[in-house]
Amino acid sequence: MAGAFDADLIVVGCGPVGVTMALLAARRGLRVHAIDRSTEVYDLPRAIVMDEEIQQVLRDAGVEVDDITTPLVGAEFVRGDGERVTGIEIPPGFVLPSGLPPAVAYEQPELEARLRAHAEAAGVAFDLGTEVTDIADDADGGVVAALAPAGGAERHVRARWLVGCDGARSSVRRRRGIAFVDQGFDQRWLVVDTWLRRDVDLSPFVQQICAPERSVTFVPGHDRRRRFEFLLHDDETDAAMTAPARVADLLAPWLTPADAEITRAVVYRFHALVAERFRDGSVFLAGDAAHQMPPFNGQGLCAGLRDAANLVWKLDLVHRGRAPDALLDTYDAERRPHAEAQVVHSADAGKLIEAIAGRIDHGDVSDLLDAGYGAGRPFPKLTTGMLVPGPDAVGRPFPLPILGDGRRTCDVLGSGFALVAADDPRRGVDPAVAARWDEIGARWVAVGDDPWLAGLLVDEQIALVRPDRYLAAVVRPHDLGRVTDALALDPTSA
Ligand SMILES: Cc1cc2nc3c(=O)[nH]c(=O)nc-3n(C[C@H](O)[C@H](O)[C@H](O)COP(=O)(O)OP(=O)(O)OC[C@H]3O[C@@H](n4cnc5c(N)ncnc54)[C@H](O)[C@@H]3O)c2cc1C
Repeated sequence: MAGAFDADLIVVGCGPVGVTMALLAARRGLRVHAIDRSTEVYDLPRAIVMDEEIQQVLRDAGVEVDDITTPLVGAEFVRGDGERVTGIEIPPGFVLPSGLPPAVAYEQPELEARLRAHAEAAGVAFDLGTEVTDIADDADGGVVAALAPAGGAERHVRARWLVGCDGARSSVRRRRGIAFVDQGFDQRWLVVDTWLRRDVDLSPFVQQICAPERSVTFVPGHDRRRRFEFLLHDDETDAAMTAPARVADLLAPWLTPADAEITRAVVYRFHALVAERFRDGSVFLAGDAAHQMPPFNGQGLCAGLRDAANLVWKLDLVHRGRAPDALLDTYDAERRPHAEAQVVHSADAGKLIEAIAGRIDHGDVSDLLDAGYGAGRPFPKLTTGMLVPGPDAVGRPFPLPILGDGRRTCDVLGSGFALVAADDPRRGVDPAVAARWDEIGARWVAVGDDPWLAGLLVDEQIALVRPDRYLAAVVRPHDLGRVTDALALDPTSA
């Protein structure tokens, strides 16, 4: 009884993950009700780095960020005396085949404000200054949220689905009885943001400075922003460590008060937590509500935006009756192990800092070394879910090169499924199988002999690319029917 619902999707929490979720869903035509107890964007310093995949998610959401980002030129783990243990350098101006830099620095509140403006323009119904006080299953198979607007009377909103994007203390998660699995990391760090008043000779690289007396993270931010994070010892109180004189003292090896203004100094507790499930009936968890990780790899928010990109196209297909409800189970199957691998990697990066500093014995440093920048631990990929295992590229984002004729692959693929081949992708495909893909609006795309895709598209193989741009399968034309069956997209297959 979808018509009886007030919305197709309720998003609880309008932080960056909730707003991106709402924006992506609205762009696909879902009616979205987005709720936050705060009326303003949270303005304390948090995320500062995003990778290529997330820049692509934003590009797909119609959000340009070139003017509010600065490409990073490298990252390293160094000893207290500055000697590099492991690191990676990116030549200035380097871009990946997509035309995007591997990683950029930005300011989270600036990005959030832009996301909100886009979501409003896309038709998301914002309900700000409103707390979600309860959620319950609805008799019609949806969910009903009790809302308490500041100073107003309680009201209810019913929707087919609800996503809890309500941050680390998620009440949606608690109300559904979903526990966190602790991956074993708990440290307090003081985060200090500065704004350079004049040019200062600071490292161009993100640095984990693993000094025995105190570990420090340095991040060259967008524009004149420079971030320092200081590991706090157990006996150092938040109040004492955020006192202006103490903060100036900590910054003294790098900056004097004449060099830079201190814009914020806040203590955070870095955890490594993953929710035991990301779906509970009509309710999903995303972002910090589902996973939290120490920020050493700059991946917390990136993981949350991956959640949004993964879930929304599935909701859209089920909403339009083009896929069974079981497709929504693949959200947990795909995103939870992926996020968990990132949580573990980020925690290991924190342990590596301690091991290099020689402060805490985490065994042999070499056991953890692969967790350092450029030191070899592979980025996680999807291994289960809506895919058919094959070459290593399956389960990873599909390369999106700028093609020889100047077209961006992402524009050519569109926002749905795409069947990609070097030459005519329909050649050799059973017309009845082709019709099933036509039915869900898939595009058949010939990309020519692009060097970045050549390795995948040998022997007339077809790359099956999902709406979130992950590679679901690589298949010979005659085998597409079997692969299509295996993906269980048929709405009657549930
Ligand atoms: C120091 C630091 C550095 C970081 N650096 C990076 C980085 O470089 N790169 C990166 O990718 N990530 C980084 N992160 C992580 C990143 O900041 C978080 O992952 C991200 O902010 C999570 O976004 P979210 O939308 O899930 O949650 P939040 O931003 O916490 O938003 C949750 C929203 O839910 C609302 N809410 C909560 N409860 C309710 C309720 N009951 N009713 C209504 N509304 C409610 C809140 O008001 C809030 O607006 C960093 C984090 C920290 C602390």
